[in-house]
Amino acid sequence: MQAQRKPLKPLDEALRELLAQAQALPGTERVDTFDADGRVLLQDAVSPLQVPPQDNSAMDGYAVRTADWIDSGVDLPVSQRIPAGTSPEPLAPASAARIFTGAPVPAGADAVVMQEDCEVLEDGRVRIKARPRAGQWIRRAGEDIALGATVIAAGTRLTPAHLGLAASMGNARLQVARKPRVALFSTGDELVMPGTVAPQDMRPGSIYNSNRFFLRALLLRMGCEVTDLGIVPDDREATIAALARAAAGHDVIVTSGGVSVGEEDHIKPAVQRLGQLDLWQIDIKPGKPFAYGRVNRSEAGAGFAHFVGLPGNPVSSFVTFQVLVRPFLLRLQGVANVLPRGMPARADFALSKGDRRREFLRVRYNDKGGLELFGNQSSGVLTSAAWGDGVVDNPAGTTIAAGDIVRFIPFAELMA
Ligand code: AMP
Ligand code: MG
Repeated sequence: MQAQRKPLKPLDEALRELLAQAQALPGTERVDTFDADGRVLLQDAVSPLQVPPQDNSAMDGYAVRTADWIDSGVDLPVSQRIPAGTSPEPLAPASAARIFTGAPVPAGADAVVMQEDCEVLEDGRVRIKARPRAGQWIRRAGEDIALGATVIAAGTRLTPAHLGLAASMGNARLQVARKPRVALFSTGDELVMPGTVAPQDMRPGSIYNSNRFFLRALLLRMGCEVTDLGIVPDDREATIAALARAAAGHDVIVTSGGVSVGEEDHIKPAVQRLGQLDLWQIDIKPGKPFAYGRVNRSEAGAGFAHFVGLPGNPVSSFVTFQVLVRPFLLRLQGVANVLPRGMPARADFALSKGDRRREFLRVRYNDKGGLELFGNQSSGVLTSAAWGDGVVDNPAGTTIAAGDIVRFIPFAELMA
């Protein structure tokens, strides 16, 4: 008799169920704005001032009043000098003010003439050689940030530009989400850590543990604090012990391997011993098996750690992390928009047979602006992920002809 197959779960449904479990972590942190890159802002940043605070010059040159203009080529006395950081007098009638980039434009002036269009005469007056247009080379007060504007919304994951914006509104510190504390371990008796056994001494059947390296790096990029618990053998009791230890001080436990349903896959019974687990067969390629559950902490009332079990095949592990775990970890930190943005791109390859599952094909841009497909899309070939610039999100059963417009998700989006 054939073993009964569980129906495959659509990715969007899995994501919905997963995100429903991702309540924002309790506790917040106030960090120095300098250190807030990648952190998630928890309160709207509302501007208490306008930026720039006043009209200022975009050039080194002369501030003038266009109404003074009689004809092209006018010689004006220089009535004051305004370096950046000073406060000018109103512009004297029929005069020019020497002004520098960033300096406030004096009252009465309505244009700046760049110094390249001026000539200083022997008597100290300045000859304006080109007729100015009202408003030229003046940066308007508030043109970047209006007073009272919500400049950065709560739930935004901060980038370097946000840090600068926050600082320009006077914020030296920012209220951000706590970093999720994540425990990571790999399962598999075949796994060997690089550095412990030389390649020529590897026993038949052994492989180096690669998942541990990219999963740790991905978790760090998602703003997590990572405790690496190493390799756990394919053994029920050892897996239970590792889970119990991991649950104690962590918000999330992430594992790779052992989530299929063979006798050597111990994740399911071990998590079920300490809490609960759903084992999903997700309708994506690569990356079918995926587990979500909870591991209760041993002390009464201490709550639980989320459990996320990734498949062992490296590319499956990599892709399921990106499409499922990444949104989950961001939502724990209060991020509003957790889904990666896809964009239309041109396929410069053909896929004559679409897979019956939704497929994430590793691709990269060629110099004609189209996408090339990596030749071997096997879930064990991690080279495809290093070679690629991202993935094509190809719906189940869809063939692709060269020139078709496909949905491309860059790794820059999935790993940031
Ligand atoms: P599993 O999900 O445990 O059945 O593993 C599926 C495949 O992925 C097997 O070929 C494993 O050897 C491989 N694998 C599991 N864990 C890792 C890992 N940490 N690094 C590299 N390959 C792994
Ligand atoms: Mg295994």
